[in-house]
Amino acid sequence: MKKSIFAASLLVFFLISVFYKGNNLKTYGKGEEEKSLNSYKLCEYNDEDLISLSSSDGVTDETWYGIGTSLPHPVNYSNSDLLKFLKPGDLIFERAGSYGYSGHSAIVEGIFYDSRYNQEYIRIIEAMPEYNVSRGLLTPNRFDDRKTSVSRLTGASEEQINGIIDFCISQLNKPYNVSHYMDSSPDSPNWYCSELIWAALKSQGMDFHHGSFYVCPEDIHIYSGATLVMHYEYQTEIVEIDSTEHEFFCSLPSYSIKEKHNFVFYNNCYETCRTCNYKKQIKEHNYQYVWLNYRQHNSMCDCGYIKSEGHAVSINYIKPGQKYPICMICNGPASVGFINTASIYTSSSSKNGSYILSNGVVVLVDADVEAYLNGTLKFDYQNILIEKDNLITLLR
Ligand SMILES: [Zn+2]
Ligand SMILES: [Zn+2]
Ligand SMILES: [Zn+2]
Repeated sequence: MKKSIFAASLLVFFLISVFYKGNNLKTYGKGEEEKSLNSYKLCEYNDEDLISLSSSDGVTDETWYGIGTSLPHPVNYSNSDLLKFLKPGDLIFERAGSYGYSGHSAIVEGIFYDSRYNQEYIRIIEAMPEYNVSRGLLTPNRFDDRKTSVSRLTGASEEQINGIIDFCISQLNKPYNVSHYMDSSPDSPNWYCSELIWAALKSQGMDFHHGSFYVCPEDIHIYSGATLVMHYEYQTEIVEIDSTEHEFFCSLPSYSIKEKHNFVFYNNCYETCRTCNYKKQIKEHNYQYVWLNYRQHNSMCDCGYIKSEGHAVSINYIKPGQKYPICMICNGPASVGFINTASIYTSSSSKNGSYILSNGVVVLVDADVEAYLNGTLKFDYQNILIEKDNLITLLR
């Protein structure tokens, strides 16, 4: 039923454009025109559709269509998750449509950086009246105004996604035309919005439309090989599952999608998932040590990571009356107590006899120095060997 409503909308738009452009009528021979109109008559429409056709395009002065390869103006994405959540190959379905259509299909070409405005933006490819097959801009305003939802091709490989996008790129600049038959060939002389996306998917073996005259935006929206990831009426949330995956959830019931993190460079030591912000350490921190007080020094990495740790002193310097032996890591003075050092020892020690004082300062025997410096030394706590940081937490 919805298909026929959409097709009817196409018809009405078609008629309106023919009416306004006048001349176009003349390009149809009498016989051909009748044949074409007979095909459209298979569809029905009602007054409601006519009303939706009169809605105006755009609520802002943004440029959405025919942008080419540069951002026409700055776009504020800060209150939206579009830049974080969308990926190349995502299928755009606009309920409100454009140019009087009650539905529109497009595909995400990618997230691009524009040097003029120093920001990222979402570029899509779409077949649009007046703009032909062209590049468009997806903004938060367009997303809401066009009542948009986004589906992701869950079963598609990266090669297939690239193939789909390449297909659309190869069709750029071909004219827009609501022809009354579907042609998926890359040699097709013209396209309408959903026909282009359908043909691009078909070029990668995803053939889901059989039968009627039109492939509607809705057909692509409900394609079983794609899963909804964003919807203008619902909130999407991303949950980190583990070090490899996150999961999309929407307040709209019945969908969730798990996928691999989308890692991007974060700083010298970390990559971060641009979707869920999960951080993965890719390199050991390169510490500088700075004396903080008599108990601790700071270990700081140029990536911004910083932690406060107890000083480490050699057991050779623990002698009665030696109040401030030098820390072997930061070279600053460490407090080990003074009257009777033994009274402040914890009961925890390494196998070789290193131990941690109650103030957090670590006293190391020579045999443990290397293991301590490379982070592998463990201490006994109630017959369990544990890491120093965990031990300190327990002793607190
Ligand atoms: Zn993630
Ligand atoms: Zn670091
Ligand atoms: Zn120190």
